[in-house]
Amino acid sequence: MDYPANPFAWALLSTVLTLMAGLILYVTRLNLRLRHSKRVLENEIGERCRAEEKLAENENRLRQIIASEPECVKLQTLDGILLEMNPAGLALLEAGQPGDIIGTSVYDMVAPEFRDEYRALTERIFAGESGVMEFQIVSLKGRRRWMETHAVPLRDGRGNVIALLGITRDITARKHAEDEVRLHYRELAHAARVNTMGEMASGLAHELNQPLAAIANYSRGCLRRIRSGGGTVEDLTQAIEQVCQQAERAGGIISSLRRFVNKEDSPRQPQDLHAIVREAMLIAGPEVKLHQVDIRLNLAPGMPHVLGHAIQIEQVVLNLVRNAIEAMGDVPPGRRYLTLRTYVAEGKAVVEVRDTGSGLPREMQNRIFEPFFTTKSAGMGMGLPICRSIVEAHGGALIPLPNPNGDGLTFRFTLCLADEEEIDG
Ligand code: ADP
Repeated sequence: MDYPANPFAWALLSTVLTLMAGLILYVTRLNLRLRHSKRVLENEIGERCRAEEKLAENENRLRQIIASEPECVKLQTLDGILLEMNPAGLALLEAGQPGDIIGTSVYDMVAPEFRDEYRALTERIFAGESGVMEFQIVSLKGRRRWMETHAVPLRDGRGNVIALLGITRDITARKHAEDEVRLHYRELAHAARVNTMGEMASGLAHELNQPLAAIANYSRGCLRRIRSGGGTVEDLTQAIEQVCQQAERAGGIISSLRRFVNKEDSPRQPQDLHAIVREAMLIAGPEVKLHQVDIRLNLAPGMPHVLGHAIQIEQVVLNLVRNAIEAMGDVPPGRRYLTLRTYVAEGKAVVEVRDTGSGLPREMQNRIFEPFFTTKSAGMGMGLPICRSIVEAHGGALIPLPNPNGDGLTFRFTLCLADEEEIDG
């Protein structure tokens, strides 16, 4: 090979060769880097595909779980628009297809009287809380059903609440069962009141006899004076006033008894506890006299109203008073003290019925609330279980407490105050 003789040409050739070699090296490196990037990209794409497949698989699994979930699962917006609902939910609402429900407002389904409470629950969920609520729905076919919903916030990746997630179950059967239990309990309480009246009949007849006998006496006196022409108008007026007073007394006793045995109680509302206690003591009056019991009423002045059913509370007081009187049967008459005390403690009204009777052996303390447990020959053993049910249905508690000095027993029960503010007042 002939090399250029010209040194300039030689230098040019060598530069060109060097550049070419550099270029080849660069392209080779680029090629390698590109291949590497391709491999990385292929791996990434593969991974992403696998992750997406997994995600789709998970989503599918989750959808299947939700779809087969026997409870209604739903997602809704703050203003109540339904975003998702599973088949169980659609069935509850008697919807033929998702399109009948999705995109509509939940408030079309919530029964009108529960809408405000439901709206408040939704607002709480979007504020980040969770909540439970019982309410009624009206299905697309116009049927009402009781529901219980457990609602929680559904959040996005940044923690913002994006929907209300509600799991709702049909509690209609439970609600009906509760209504029946309530009805049975009311009927049992009523039967016990009628039974109490039966047991007290002779004493009450005697109590009623007194004003009736007085009326007969005063009337006969009036007649005598009228017939004999003696007696002034003033005498006659006084006698007739007595007749009126005694008739009112008899009428008062009869209306108390009628109220007491009435099946329908007054509605649950604020009640004057002391008026109820006095009414119970009026009915217990004949037995108190018969057994020569010394009654001490220690009623707290300014007692706030309690919330409840007047006759049921009266039934509890009368039952405890009658038990106390019976428990003092073996105590000599001069030592039969029955103290009825009321006061307010820890935001509740407290009633205590204390006797100086036989007391209660420790082993019997739990048994006395068992139905049909009695130590009396003619006892039924239903008084205290009914009293406890009544008190607990009123949000209170009934307990026996041995007296500190060891003689006799105290029954204490609590009742809710009608208005918390009254505690301070
Ligand atoms: P009954 O009066 O028909 O026996 P209760 O359920 O009212 O039914 O009372 C159950 C039992 O509790 C009574 O038989 C009695 O042994 C006991 N008991 C209730 N009150 C008192 C009391 N004040 N002192 C002692 N024992 C009581």
